[in-house]
Amino acid sequence: MASKVIRNVTWDFLNEVIQDGSRVFPKEELERLRFCIQCGTCVGGCPSGRISALRIRKIFRETQLGLKETVLSDDNLWNCTTCYTCQERCPRGVHTTNTVRIIRNLAVKYGYIKNNHRRICEFFLTYGHAVPINDETRQVRKDLGLAEAPPTVHSHPESLAEVLKLAEETGFKKIVERTAK
Ligand code: SF4
Ligand code: SF4
Repeated sequence: MASKVIRNVTWDFLNEVIQDGSRVFPKEELERLRFCIQCGTCVGGCPSGRISALRIRKIFRETQLGLKETVLSDDNLWNCTTCYTCQERCPRGVHTTNTVRIIRNLAVKYGYIKNNHRRICEFFLTYGHAVPINDETRQVRKDLGLAEAPPTVHSHPESLAEVLKLAEETGFKKIVERTAK
């Protein structure tokens, strides 16, 4: 198999992942990524890796090597189900799943959002739900003796303004608009 020589390795991307992620998770937990030894335990137990090309170990190595564009544009990043199996098993205490979540955040920040994900975000901004209710679901709820609509924005449309305010305050709305095609 042909190997690729990587020159100009920098810590910049790894540092960015840790720095950006520390707004969400404790920094010392994310720092564990520096200690990944490529043992493959994470890949061995990954249920998604059995049916997709997701190799979380590879993503971490590329992150360590500073291959920012390669990592952020990798479709496999989105095949992680965040089941936390790898995080439970990592012998080096790498907070694998949380790190994937941070890398995904960065992917979206840099415009690598998937079309389907963007549509879900747009649903959320339009209806206050990532998956809006439809007639079929309304009927099923009725058949089960439930209210036709759940006690959310669907029953309280006036609350959509509050949802949108949250979306604005957190910067979510801006990200969705910026990445719109
Ligand atoms: S299990 Fe942990 S140390 Fe081993 S490759 Fe995966 S992240 Fe790295
Ligand atoms: S959290 Fe993601 S990468 Fe880790 S085992 Fe589960 S699906 Fe695989």
